[in-house]
Parts: sequence; structure tokens; C-alpha cells
Amino acid sequence: MVGLTLNYHYMQLPREVIVGKGTLQRIPEVTKRLHLKGRALVMSDAICYDLAGKTVSDLIAESGLSVDFLLVKTMTTKDISEIENQIRDLKPQVLFGVGGGTIIDAAKVSSRSKNIPFISVPTTVSHDGIASPLASIKGSNKPYSVLAQAPLAIIADTEVIAKAPWRFVVSGCGDVIAKFTSVKDWKLAHVEQNEYYGEYAASLALMSARLVIQNAKLIVDHQDEGLRVLLEALISCGVAMSIAGSSRPCSGSEHLFSHALDIVNSHHAMHGEQCGVGSILSAYLYKANWQRIKNSLKLIGAPTNAKELGVADIDVVKALKLAATIRPERYTILQKLNLSFEDCEKTAKATGIIN
Ligand SMILES: [Zn+2]
Repeated sequence: MVGLTLNYHYMQLPREVIVGKGTLQRIPEVTKRLHLKGRALVMSDAICYDLAGKTVSDLIAESGLSVDFLLVKTMTTKDISEIENQIRDLKPQVLFGVGGGTIIDAAKVSSRSKNIPFISVPTTVSHDGIASPLASIKGSNKPYSVLAQAPLAIIADTEVIAKAPWRFVVSGCGDVIAKFTSVKDWKLAHVEQNEYYGEYAASLALMSARLVIQNAKLIVDHQDEGLRVLLEALISCGVAMSIAGSSRPCSGSEHLFSHALDIVNSHHAMHGEQCGVGSILSAYLYKANWQRIKNSLKLIGAPTNAKELGVADIDVVKALKLAATIRPERYTILQKLNLSFEDCEKTAKATGIIN
């Protein structure tokens, strides 16, 4: 979809973003503004159906579209082809993904392959996939995200999101704070590998990280305003990826560490929690201010060591070693330094992530 050539740069951005209390009620006006007609397909899992999927379906019906609902349980490559078959048979003009990251990713991939737009209705704020054009699917041979399509609209209702466990918010903060090192890796790849680098997309990702830290108190106090700051930061990160045409501004060595930890320990922590810890390790390798990242994560209440991640010390060392091999084409500080097992252990100890 997105081709980066020497002559032009393609960006696919969301057209409408609505964030705040009770925004689900805005669905009829959104469908009207976007001139959506005919048939809509809403997909969700059982929990998110009760939480928001039913309301979303009712509101779409109210706005004059006919609505089909697709209840999904798991999100493997097999499930995706099942969803694609349903899209082929039902012929909706638009797909609504109502749920957490996995459901939204599945909506992104299946709508893209069937050439229809999708609307993102997140019920959690655990990572930046709610607005990005990238998706990761379980059971595929890639543990990281691949390009799909950006949502046509994002409707994020903080009243719905506030009902999810607090840990999702913490994870979302970790994913945003991790941008401090993903941007460093992108710049490094630009300087040393002549990779495309976009100052605008990089600045947007960094600004999101700064805003989350600046507003940490509002977030930890469970204020609606804090949740909105986090949502806007996650959406801005998604937009940064849309502008860059890849996950580069938002996913560097700290994400490779997180993907590696998923492989090393199947009872791993949440994506954003792991990326936060990965970001401490990466900042240390850059000889940057890793303590600041660690302190910011602590302030939010995010894990900052192996124990808090619920993994063994050795898992962290193994993951850091494995991380450099996960995605060979993504040049980061890990490829540059080519760390030995002992180096990885030393890094994890020096940052207090292991004992
Ligand atoms: Zn992430």
C-alpha cells in the first residue's frame, strides 16, 4: 500500500478522530459525515460486545445502515480468513472493529484485504495499534507488525475505556514512553544505513512520550483528562506511523526486546510493559538518560524490572540477546553493538532490571 520512492511519500491518515466521554453516541453523526450507506459489519468479542459492541451496532442501525454482527473468539491467521469470507458474503461498505488491540488489528487486516474502510472503536488503551496502519496477527510468521491500513475514523469513548483493568492504561503509557528510544534507533538507521527518516513523524512520536510524562499525575489519579491525554498520545503515535509509512518512529530495539521476550517466556507481561523495560535497556546502550525513562515508568506504576514483569532474570538476558535477530532488516542499536550474552547480562544488571 505505502511505497516509499525517491519521488513521493504516501501517507494514509484517519479522517475523523473523536476522543472523550460518551463519544459512542456520536456514531450516527460520524456515519452521516462520512456518507456511509448500505451495510456495516461490526466485529467484537463477547466481552467487548457487552461493553460497547451492542451499543455501536444499535447506533449504526439508528443512523439508517443495516448492521451485521460478527462475534470473534481468537485472532489467528485462520480466523482472519474466516472474517474475510464473511466480508465477501455480507458485502459491507464498512467494518467496525470494537475491542482491544487484537480485534482492531484483525479488523485492519481483513478490511484491507477486502478493500473496504474500517473504523476503530477501542475499548482499551494498552498500545498504539488503535490508530496505526500496522497490525500484528498471531500465528503469522512475523512476531512484529506489518502494514495494513489506517482507520477511516477512530471513536474512543473514555467511559468505555475506563472500565478496562488499570493495567491496560499502564501498558499504554509504557508503549508511548518507549518512543524515546525507538526514535533514537530510527535516527541511527538513517545516519548509518541511509534509511529514510522523517523529522515530522519522529517529533510527533517524541512529543507524545513527553506529554504522557508531563501528565503522569493526571493519568495515575484516574482522571478522565489523563485518559484523554494517553489516548491522544497513542493516536498521535499511530498518526506518526501513518506519516512515516512504517512503524519506524514507534518501534525500535525496545520493541524487538518485547517481541523476543514473548518468544522466550510464553507467560509474558503486556506489550507496553515490556517495551517500557526494553526502553530502559536501549537507553542504557545509547549511553542516554535511562534513569529518566525508568523513573517515568515508576511514576506511572509500570514494571521496571524482571520481577515486576513476572519473568525470570535469565529470560530478560536471553530476550535481549535474541532481540537483535528478530528482525534483521530493522537496524537498531542492537545490530550496531552486536552484544554478547555477557554484555546483555551486564546491561540488565547495570539498569537494575535483574539482580
Ligand atoms: Zn508498541
